[in-house]
Amino acid sequence: MTPVFRFAPSPNGRLHLGHAYSALLNAALARRLQGRFLLRMEDIDTTRCTEALARGIIEDLAWLGLTWEEPVRVQSHHGDDYARALASLQSRSLVYPCFCSRREVEEASARRDPDGAPLYPGTCAYLAPEMVAARIAAGESHSWRLRMDKALAAVAPSLHYRRFALYAMEEETVTADPARWGDAVIARKDIATSYHLSVVTDDALQSVSHVVRGADLEAATCLHVLLQALLGLPTPLYHHHALLLAPEGDKLAKSKGGETLADLRARGVSSGQVRAMLS
Ligand code: GLU
Repeated sequence: MTPVFRFAPSPNGRLHLGHAYSALLNAALARRLQGRFLLRMEDIDTTRCTEALARGIIEDLAWLGLTWEEPVRVQSHHGDDYARALASLQSRSLVYPCFCSRREVEEASARRDPDGAPLYPGTCAYLAPEMVAARIAAGESHSWRLRMDKALAAVAPSLHYRRFALYAMEEETVTADPARWGDAVIARKDIATSYHLSVVTDDALQSVSHVVRGADLEAATCLHVLLQALLGLPTPLYHHHALLLAPEGDKLAKSKGGETLADLRARGVSSGQVRAMLS
């Protein structure tokens, strides 16, 4: 089977060197394995993503000399696919509606998930069904959370995925520990899906065989492997690359105002220099 790689940026800011590294690595691996290279716009968070930023990302990637298959999958156009995946989990009561506000969860929980968000204390997990129906009928906004204990009981006693190393592409088996995420939000109140649900749905729909992304998403992979098992989707091979760090050791982040590729270009750095620096 032809290997399929993807670069999947969120257009909530312009790309920085860390993104460039990830995109170039995916494209280089696809070339090396004579595979396909896809670009996907992960723009479900309509509160932060814009079309102008998506256009900027395309400009940055083209400037780097990358090419990808068209059409680009734009997540905000595929709500039906995520709704179907959610419905499949709902039909088996693997998710439940949660009416809590962010603040309520924050106040009720001292423990943290791998992203540093409060681990859900289960407030809405066992509400009486009539109460849930009444609150939904009254139009109360709600997210959908994974019922982690039931989800774990529904899959094999231990979950695994295959991780591959660069260069020789040797593989090893990794045990996934999704329980660390607790009853994670699978569909947000405001956008009816989540990064986790959308990414596993799209990776499967696009036949992605190799997921290459930053080490900051390694913990999320555990949850993705669980969702794949629950939804009957294949689990791709994974490689989590090291993150490029800012001089002070901070993660390079758009949000921290780190220099973007557009900034580098504006001060006369060439794409060849960027590629040479990252290679
Ligand atoms: N959209 C995510 C990001 O920009 C990456 C998702 C992924 O590669 O799975 O951080």
